[in-house]
Amino acid sequence: ALGFMARLAPATAAEQKREAADVRAEIARGGERFALKPWDWDRYAERIRRARYDLDQDQVKPYFLLDTVLQQGVFFAANQLYGVTFKERHDLPVYQPDVRTFTVYDKDGSELGLMYFDYWKRDNKQGGAWMSNFVGQSTLLGTKPVIYNVANFTKPAPGQPALITFDDVTTMFHEFGHALHGLFAAQMYPTLSGTNTARDWVEFPSQFNEHWALDPTVFAHYARQYRTGAAMPQPLVDKIKRAAKFNQGYALGELVAAAELDMKWHSLPAAAPLQDVDAFEAGTLAGLGLDTADVPPRYRSSYFLHIWGNGYSAGYYAYLWTQMLDDDAYAWFVGHGGLTRANGQRFRDLILSRGHTQDYDAMFRAFYGREPEIGPMLENRGLSPAS
Ligand SMILES: [Zn+2]
Repeated sequence: ALGFMARLAPATAAEQKREAADVRAEIARGGERFALKPWDWDRYAERIRRARYDLDQDQVKPYFLLDTVLQQGVFFAANQLYGVTFKERHDLPVYQPDVRTFTVYDKDGSELGLMYFDYWKRDNKQGGAWMSNFVGQSTLLGTKPVIYNVANFTKPAPGQPALITFDDVTTMFHEFGHALHGLFAAQMYPTLSGTNTARDWVEFPSQFNEHWALDPTVFAHYARQYRTGAAMPQPLVDKIKRAAKFNQGYALGELVAAAELDMKWHSLPAAAPLQDVDAFEAGTLAGLGLDTADVPPRYRSSYFLHIWGNGYSAGYYAYLWTQMLDDDAYAWFVGHGGLTRANGQRFRDLILSRGHTQDYDAMFRAFYGREPEIGPMLENRGLSPAS
């Protein structure tokens, strides 16, 4: 993990310098004269985003009808990759009237499990999006998975079509990626089954599944104007793709710095003397080579609560690490013909069906044939590898 962050930091630092120059130019363009400070960054970066990358949601949303995204996008990609099929059920009890249920069938027609989708925001509902299960897979207990995906999309007014944003589309693919990890589980013990994996692995299948949202074949299949069925105009598609690369030097930089702090604090031996917090932090960050004057860590040591109380304990790097895994695995797909049953089967056999029954690095190597590499992650975020 330290080696990974050491490779990520220089590329991020180079991108931060470019972005900081843009932000300074934006400050000057408005006729203001002052030195850029971290607390100015968001305000002026937002102006740049609006000018260069802003997606007009009213222009985009008519292409994302929720049911079409679900069945012609999320389900379609899973069918093309893994051969699974879906049948909506209306006979199962639900805890909320607009929850939808589907039986998931395997490629041979046998029943794989059940899916519940609870997408709409409600007044009494916890915010955010997540996947979990009512019943976990286990051959010991003879149980098949019963999985739910929850989100908080804005419900359309009565009589209006259920149109969602591209962020929502991405969320659907993400949470369904977790669901596939649970559906394809083939373990004896429930504690090792499906998504019962470590933090630096569990987001790999979900983030990997997000890639199919923008895969040309999948995107063309679901992103259809809900009235006319027309495909999205290419300039609009390009805009969605470009927006993903905006401000990545800042976003990655504050995460790398925070992850490094987490790692270094937890690397101190038990016998180490009490540290001067500011000096320890400054020393750790200086070693990274990031310009933390412009982009400070997401959390400073003195209030980085979750590395102490919420169990990160040297695990905060996991979000960045799983980005490397999912970008690298998707690059493997692209290099091997993309959306094919053979590729999907390989991923299912070597990754998705294994739960926590093997070491993660062994699983990745078995799938790819080598260690994970950082190149595709840098490329997807608009960063070039540091020389
Ligand atoms: Zn997730």
